[in-house]
This record gives sequence, structure tokens and C-alpha cells, in this order.
Amino acid sequence: MSQGQAAIPSQPRAKALRACLLCSIIQTPADFRRIGCPNCEELMQMKGYADRIQSCTTTHFDGIIAVIDPETSWVARWQRTSKYVRGMYAVRVKGRIPEDVEAELENRGIKYRPRDQIEMD
Ligand SMILES: [Zn+2]
Repeated sequence: MSQGQAAIPSQPRAKALRACLLCSIIQTPADFRRIGCPNCEELMQMKGYADRIQSCTTTHFDGIIAVIDPETSWVARWQRTSKYVRGMYAVRVKGRIPEDVEAELENRGIKYRPRDQIEMD
């Protein structure tokens, strides 16, 4: 009897993409599992660990920018990604890296800057 009620569509493929909470690079979960994060795998250690990928990446991100030439792109500079690999990056990423990763960054003298500061919520 539920006429007029559309079936809920299955999630579009794009929704399956995930953004790294630290560098905001966008990849499929399969890529994160296969190669980890190309920028911060040393810190995040996601390669092969689905749980780790869950906690270090997110599907909650806004905007996608392509960084073709990380050394010179003003977008890359603005995104603080100048040392990162070329690829697709999220403009805004919601969420924080796990505490152990943040502690590891501190150990290395790196100050973690969450990428969701623009939107306080
Ligand atoms: Zn990363």
C-alpha cells in the first residue's frame, strides 16, 4: 500500500570514497587498503587494516580539488599540501585523527591542524 514511496536508492559509488583525516587525500577504501595513504602512511599505518582505515579516514568531506602539481599550485599551498603527492583532495574534512596518531605527530614536532576548523560544530 505504500504507493508514492520511492525505493531508497543504493549509495552512489562516489559516496564510497574516503578522505584521509590528516592530509585530506581522497581515495577508495580499496586503495587505502592496498597502498595506505600515499602521504602519511608512515604515521597512519592503514595499509591492510580496515579498522585503521575506518578511524583515519572519513566519508564526511566537502569539495574535491585535483592537485596536479603540488609544488607550485596555489591551491596546494592554501591546502597546506605542497609536499604531498598529486591526486584528489578534499577541501574540508570532518573529523579528527586518532589520539595515538596525534601523539605521534607531537613526538615529531608536528602540530596537528584539524581540517574541519572552518566549520565549528
Ligand atoms: Zn593522508
